Amino acid sequence: MMPEDVPPLPAALRLRLDSAALAANWTALDALSGGARAGAAIKADCYGLGVAAAVPVLAAAGCRDWFVAHWQEAAVAARLVQAGQISVLHGPMNDAEAAYARALGARPVLNSLAQVRRWLATGGGPCDLMVDTGMNRLGLALGEIGDAAVSALEIETCMSHLASADEDCAQNAAQLARFREVTSAVRAERYSLCNSAGIALGGDYHFDLTRPGLALYGGVPRGDFAGQIAQVAWPEAAVIQVRTLAAGDSVGYNATFIAPAPMRVGVISVGYADGYLRCWSGRGHVLWEGRRLPVLGRVSMDMTIVDLSTAENCGEGDWLGLEYALPQAAATSGLSQYELLTLMGRRFARNE
Ligand SMILES: *Cc1c(COP(=O)(O)O)cnc(C)c1O
Repeated sequence: MMPEDVPPLPAALRLRLDSAALAANWTALDALSGGARAGAAIKADCYGLGVAAAVPVLAAAGCRDWFVAHWQEAAVAARLVQAGQISVLHGPMNDAEAAYARALGARPVLNSLAQVRRWLATGGGPCDLMVDTGMNRLGLALGEIGDAAVSALEIETCMSHLASADEDCAQNAAQLARFREVTSAVRAERYSLCNSAGIALGGDYHFDLTRPGLALYGGVPRGDFAGQIAQVAWPEAAVIQVRTLAAGDSVGYNATFIAPAPMRVGVISVGYADGYLRCWSGRGHVLWEGRRLPVLGRVSMDMTIVDLSTAENCGEGDWLGLEYALPQAAATSGLSQYELLTLMGRRFARNE
């Protein structure tokens, strides 16, 4: 048999996507956006969840505006939704990317006067415009928006991005005031300022379109969303070996856990190569039939060892869920909710 003829085995590591929770999160964020519509940031493969599974769920919920970072991501998304609904945040860096935008039918987000001029010089057409209101990442400076080239554009969405919407700080109001100047100086079909956290800052911030990412996928960037956003990503790993330890036996690299008494432990098929980083060593938990089982010792590259003392019937081949509710997981691990999602590696089988 040729290798490709051997039927594949089921994965020992999977990332279950709760489609109902994803759809409900979009619907909640659309409602929280008031008179504005909610779009969706689907960059980085829907923050690691898998575009192929997540985008159709969001489209069925009613989403019509999609934001990706790279041109390669636009091509993948265009197989799932109308290309004309896709905005590419990194913009056209050269004439080849401008030509690619037109061939695909996706809208570039123009981020500099050079990109504005390039888009016009290569034929113009519908585009989006990013204006920097204080983050100093991408976007035209306020002093550039009066340029004659900007007024020659056919702008669908004129946007800016909030740097600190997850905090209560003066920067939010300062960015809002600058964005108001932008809306009176730049003609566009629609205006858009908010990411997930920005939606909670209130109606003044909403304009016509919001661009949630994190909260769609179960992240809670501000306490205001507590109880309104459900967990979407459920990582699960199989038990690949059960062992019995004697009192005094050590576990894993560098023997950072010593069994205080005889105990059963399980080796599960997830490790730091999968994005379950070493910060979970001795700190993470897995869930089995309603029980919380602690991670013991160091997380390895492909394996993690867990305490099965209170899970007598759990055995090899059983599936354990990683405790991964994002706000709590961020507090425990020291990783951001964004990192927790986007870290999850290619060995996770995703429902497609
Ligand atoms: C990633 C991104 C978003 C989504 O941000 P979240 O904080 O994940 O909601 C919105 N707008 C822009 C420009 C982005 O880059």
